[in-house]
Amino acid sequence: MTEYTPMRLPRRRSVAVQVGHVMVGGDAPVVVQSMTNTDTADADATVAQVAALARAGSELVRITVDREEAAMAVPRIRERLDRIGVNVPLIGDFHYNGHKLLADFPACAEALAKYRINPGNVGFKGKRDTQFSQIIDIALRHDKPVRIGVNWGSLDQELLTRLMDENAVSANPISAAAVMREAIIQSGLLSAARAEELGMRRDRIILSAKVSQVQDLIAVYADLASRCDYALHLGLTEAGMGTKGIVASSASMGILLQQGIGDTIRVSLTPEPGGDRSREVQVAQELLQVMGFRAFVPVVAACPGCGRTTSTVFQELAGDIQDHIRDSMPEWREKYPGVENLNVAVMGCIVNGPGESKFADIGISLPGTGETPTAPVFIDGEKVATLRGPNIASEFKTMVLDYIERRFGRGARAVPEIRTSAD
Ligand code: SF4
Repeated sequence: MTEYTPMRLPRRRSVAVQVGHVMVGGDAPVVVQSMTNTDTADADATVAQVAALARAGSELVRITVDREEAAMAVPRIRERLDRIGVNVPLIGDFHYNGHKLLADFPACAEALAKYRINPGNVGFKGKRDTQFSQIIDIALRHDKPVRIGVNWGSLDQELLTRLMDENAVSANPISAAAVMREAIIQSGLLSAARAEELGMRRDRIILSAKVSQVQDLIAVYADLASRCDYALHLGLTEAGMGTKGIVASSASMGILLQQGIGDTIRVSLTPEPGGDRSREVQVAQELLQVMGFRAFVPVVAACPGCGRTTSTVFQELAGDIQDHIRDSMPEWREKYPGVENLNVAVMGCIVNGPGESKFADIGISLPGTGETPTAPVFIDGEKVATLRGPNIASEFKTMVLDYIERRFGRGARAVPEIRTSAD
């Protein structure tokens, strides 16, 4: 049996922050979060999407709070989520008028588990410090943590200009890109220091410094991580659509996570029109899972296929099992504790099939082109059955479900040898 062992790579030491019932940083596992793209004023749509994100496994969900109608909807959204048993903490995303919305709608301030403040657009010129202080005061009154979230697209221009000017007269000037990165980092650190001066404890502050280029993100976070012990929220902003967004986010965050940097992650994918918002949760989970840091869903290993197997049976079977597992996970998390540690293998021919299948908890090696039309099934490294005939796929699927029931179901016991009529 393959036991899942989380990777114990050294993690950067960070101060743990409690966000609702979820711990971020310290010794807590890296937390997956996401953000809605509904109009928050549309409570029906927002409740539905938050619930879908939470069911997909998002442990925190951020919602936009951009105007009065949205702020008014927040407590209703919270109540309705609680009524349907979705207790995921909600984070309010504020820009420009956050100080006013939080002050005018205390029920909104109370319903949220954390406030995200962007120091680049909390207010301008003389108003910036005042409005920043107002948000921190409200957070202190409601005993809420904050994320100070710098974004290069809305970077504090006064700070950037000052650093550029200083660099221009420096004896050892650095590149404009390096000045930009320094401005992003300083914006976060100065704002966090200001929040502390105003009375916010370090265990109530999370920092982020998002940029849209992979190499910049790695450089910014590596530097930021070495200069503070605040819990860090990782994310590549404007990662993009489809595979580009997935690859860019995975490459940048994977490198940082490998270095022990990052306490919570969000994968900012641009969905296809009408696409499933939960995809960003799936990608974040898979990133953490393939790197061995956390387990969220059973893994289905499948070979890529090649000229040795021209039938599509193994692709269909692997896809079918994977879809079934993912669709079933919201229910299985309760019903089969530990099922996320399961490994299933679906292999296309005898070359790697038996070897990979033996390594999995349960695996099948389908017949390749010209091979005897039989499919050995392995459980916990032992061959337990050989399937034949037209129903190989459905029989194997039944065996997987049976295995899950016996290993992870109530009253689970040691898995006995399985015999099928095909033996
Ligand atoms: S297991 Fe067989 S079918 Fe699959 S990639 Fe390897 S050689 Fe090709």
